Amino acid sequence: MTSYDKNNIFAKILKGDIPAKTVFEDDQILAFYDIAPKTPIHILVIPKRQYTSFDDFCQTASKAEIDHFFRTLRQIAKDAGLHTRGYRLITNHGDEGGQEVPHFHFHILGGKPMGPLVASGG
Ligand code: AMP
Repeated sequence: MTSYDKNNIFAKILKGDIPAKTVFEDDQILAFYDIAPKTPIHILVIPKRQYTSFDDFCQTASKAEIDHFFRTLRQIAKDAGLHTRGYRLITNHGDEGGQEVPHFHFHILGGKPMGPLVASGG
């Protein structure tokens, strides 16, 4: 993946240039509802620092930052009431991963049975 695009849609949300429905925020992380939810609960969790993707985040972020991100991700899912029901986490990396927005993010999907892992096999 190429260098960070400062004009991607999540960068604009972080700058306050476009609105988002915030679920959680601290000094490192922002979580907000997906604009086109695929499930009854669909939350996006992003670091505030500029990472293009999961690969970039894992390679570049500090251990403390990675630790904080994943612990917070868990807490956001729990606070959304999904802890006991179950939920799905997705992060898409790169073109074949289906990544549309080039700022690292996790999807928290829940509120109904998720069904098969992917739409079709092969
Ligand atoms: P991905 O395909 O993993 O990059 O996911 C990008 C997600 O961002 C999609 O689920 C979009 O619906 C969502 N999205 C795009 N623009 C916005 C926005 N302005 N606010 C909230 N979610 C958005």
